[in-house]
Amino acid sequence: KASVMDGDKFDYDEMADSLEKSRAKSALEALQEERKKLPIYPYRDELLQAVRDHQVLVIVGETGSGKTTQIPQYLHEAGYTKHGMIACTQPRRVAAMSVAARVSQEMGVKLGHEVGYSIRFEDCTSEKTILKYMTDGMLLREFLGEPDLASYSVVMVDEAHERTLSTDILFGLVKDITRFRPDLKLLISSATLDAEKFSDYFDSAPIFKIPGRRYPVEINFTKAPEADYLDAAIVTSLQIHVTQPPGDILVFLTGQEEIETAEEILKHRTRGLGTKIAELIICPIYANLPTELQAKIFEPTPEGARKVVLATNIAETSLTIDGIKYVIDPGFCKMKSYNPRTGMESLLVTPISKASAMQRAGRSGRTGPGKCFRLYTAYNFHNDLDDNTVPEIQRTNLANVVLTLKSLGIHDLLHFDFMDPPPAEALLKALELLFALSALNKLGELTKVGRRMAEFPLDPMLSKMIVASEKFKCSDEIISIAAMLSVGNSIFYRPKDKQVHADNARLNFHTGNVGDHIALLKVYNSWKETNYSTQWCYESYIQVRSMKRARDVRDQLAGLLERVEIELTSNDNDLDAIKKSITSGFFPHSARLQKNGSYRTVKHPQTVHIHPSSGLAQVLPRWVVYHELVLTTKEYMRQVTELKPDWLVEIAPHYYQLKDVEDSSSKKMPRGEGRAKD
Ligand code: ADP
Ligand code: MG
Repeated sequence: KASVMDGDKFDYDEMADSLEKSRAKSALEALQEERKKLPIYPYRDELLQAVRDHQVLVIVGETGSGKTTQIPQYLHEAGYTKHGMIACTQPRRVAAMSVAARVSQEMGVKLGHEVGYSIRFEDCTSEKTILKYMTDGMLLREFLGEPDLASYSVVMVDEAHERTLSTDILFGLVKDITRFRPDLKLLISSATLDAEKFSDYFDSAPIFKIPGRRYPVEINFTKAPEADYLDAAIVTSLQIHVTQPPGDILVFLTGQEEIETAEEILKHRTRGLGTKIAELIICPIYANLPTELQAKIFEPTPEGARKVVLATNIAETSLTIDGIKYVIDPGFCKMKSYNPRTGMESLLVTPISKASAMQRAGRSGRTGPGKCFRLYTAYNFHNDLDDNTVPEIQRTNLANVVLTLKSLGIHDLLHFDFMDPPPAEALLKALELLFALSALNKLGELTKVGRRMAEFPLDPMLSKMIVASEKFKCSDEIISIAAMLSVGNSIFYRPKDKQVHADNARLNFHTGNVGDHIALLKVYNSWKETNYSTQWCYESYIQVRSMKRARDVRDQLAGLLERVEIELTSNDNDLDAIKKSITSGFFPHSARLQKNGSYRTVKHPQTVHIHPSSGLAQVLPRWVVYHELVLTTKEYMRQVTELKPDWLVEIAPHYYQLKDVEDSSSKKMPRGEGRAKD
C-alpha cells in the first residue's frame, strides 16, 4: 500500500510541477504580448538600425513609452551582449531596482542572474549578468576600477533630463571614452523634448524620437492659494474618490514623512465613508520604502476599488504606474540647495518648475483622457514657477565629485567638459574642503589619505572619519557609526500611542550623555550582542529593517577597510578616541554654545540649534561637532557629539587657529562651572 501512496505522491508532484511550468509560460507569453503594445515597439527595428549607424544616439520619448524596460532588451536580442554588458543608469535607487525586477520577469529569468541591478551598498548582479540597471552614481564609481568601462558594450544614460549631479559628470566621462572606444555604443535617453541640448553636447548626435500616445488632460487650478497643501491634497483625493468615475489617483508629495502622514489621515477618513463608497487602496512609494512593498504600486487595482498612489517625485518620470487617471499636484518637491559661501547644504521644500508640472499632469493621460488638479493658482503657475529645474550640479556640494574626478586623474576641473558648469565658487569650496581633510595637497593633488577616502562610497567627511580611525585604533567602532549614519534617520521607532515608552527606550542608549554618534554605536552593539534579535528590536523601539541595512553597509565598509589596508581594531573603552576620529572628519561642522542656548558654527558663523531628537538637546555641551544641518522651523544640527576645543587645533591645525577656539570662560574656570547660561 505504501508503494501506491508513494506512486500517487510522485505523480502529483510531477503534475503540479508541469502545471506550474505552463502557468509560468503563459504568464511569460502574456508579458510578451504586453511588450508589443508599448509605444516604442513599432520603432524597434528603426531604433536598432540607428544604433548600428551611430555611436552616440539621443533618444526622446514620453514616460511610459518603454525606453527603460525595452531598449536594453532590444539591444540584447540584437546581439549587443555578446561582447559586453549593457548598462542602463537611473538617477534613483528604487527605479533601478523596480525596472530590473520588471525586465527580469519579461525575460523569464531570476533577478540578479541575466538581469540585475547595482545600487550603493547593494549589488544584485552575478557572473551571468548582461543587462545591468544601476544608479548613475554607481556607474560613476565603476570608472574608478575600469576607466574605459571595458566590460560594457553599451551604456545607456537614462532619465538624462533629470540632470542629477552624477548624470552630468557621467556625460563628460562617457563622451571622452567614446573617442577611444569606437566599439562602445552610447545612448542618452530623456523624457522631455529639450533633446537639442544633449545632441549639441555630444557633437551633434542624432535624435531618435519615439512618438508618444497621449490623451488630453484637463487641467484644474485652485481659485486661491492653499494654506495647507497636504490637507488640500487629502481632501481632493477624497472628493475624486467620491464623485469621479473609476480610475486611479496619483498624488505628488515631497517625502516619506509627508506621505506617511497623508496615508494615516486618508485611512482614518475613509473609515468614516461607509460601505456604499468603493474601497480606496492606499499605496505609498518613496526611496526608502522596503522592497516588498514597492511592488504593490504596480499591482492592478481590483474591480470596484480605486487606488491612490502617494508618491515623491519618483513617479514624475522614473516610474510609470499604469491606470492613473487623476493627478493631484501640490506644486512642491524637496530639493537640495547649497550655499557655496558657507558650505552649507540643505534639503528644502521648494516650488517645482513648469516643466515638472507638465510632466506630472502628463501622468494622468497615458491610457485615456485624464484630469490634473493643481493645488495652486493659474497666476502662480505662470508667474512664480521657473521654466526648468536648475541642474543639481549648480546647487550642491561638489566635494564628493571632485574627489572622484581627482582619483580618475582629472586635475583641471575648471576646464572639464561640463554640459552646464558648476559655479566656480562651489568648485573652489570643494577643493578647499578636500584640502582641509588632507585628501588633497597644496597643489591640489590627491594624497594617500585622499586615495584611501575615494575607495569609500561616502561623503568625504565620513570617509575621512573612517580613514582617521586607523590612527585612533577604533576602526571597528567607527565603521559601525558610519553604517548607522548612512541608514539615515529611520533607526528609532516612535509609535503615536507609545511615545513615552519609545522615548525612554531611546534615552537608555544615551546614558552618560555620550552623544548621538556613540548612542548609535551602542544601539548597534547591543543588537549584535543579542545575536541580531528581531525581538530585541521590537522591545527597544528600534526598526529592525534599518538595523539589517546598517549591518549590510557595515559588512561592506569592513571589506573596503581591508582594501585600503586599515586593520579592524577596537578601542571600546576609549570614547575620546572615537570622538576624535569623528572630529577628524567632521571638524568643519563644529559649533560653540551661545549664552541663549543656541549655537554658533565656528568657521562660518551661523546660528544653529541642537535637534530636539538629539540625546544632547537638554545637555547643551559647550562645544559640539554635528553630522548634518536640517532646516525645519529652525536650522537644526542632527547627530551631535561633544568635543573638546583643543582637539580642533590638534586635529586640524591648518583649519583652526587658537583664536578660533579660545573659550574665554573655560580658561578662567574649570570645565563644568562655566558661565554658559548666565
Ligand atoms: P519609459 O522608460 O519610457 O518611461 P518604461 O520602460 O519604464 O517606460 O515602462 C514601460 C511599461 O512597463 C509601462 O507600462 C510600465 O507600467 C511598465 N513597468 C515598468 N516597470 C514596471 C514594474 N516594476 N512592474 C510592472 N510594470 C512595470
Ligand atoms: Mg524610463
